[in-house]
Amino acid sequence: MKPRKLPLRKCVACQEMKPKKELIRVVRTPSEEIQIDLTGKKAGRGAYLCGNVSCFKLAKKSKALDRALKQSVSESIYDSLENEFIAVQDEFIEAKELKADEA
Ligand SMILES: [Zn+2]
Repeated sequence: MKPRKLPLRKCVACQEMKPKKELIRVVRTPSEEIQIDLTGKKAGRGAYLCGNVSCFKLAKKSKALDRALKQSVSESIYDSLENEFIAVQDEFIEAKELKADEA
């Protein structure tokens, strides 16, 4: 059996195409809040980042989220997202490994 084709998304920081489950989604909700969306299902405009903080830092430096979300993202929002990103990173990696075990 051929492996199923994985949906690919582009990391807005390093521009690499990766399977969706390798990426963390950042969403701009309809109420214009910017949040990290681990479920990948929240409504709003989304941007994807590799599941590691170096890509987040790159996005912050290059203002990649501003462009991807078509909204200006203030430094303080980047800072709080960065903290959240670091906090969810481990959870994200664990969940990924769990899924890999099931497969
Ligand atoms: Zn990346």
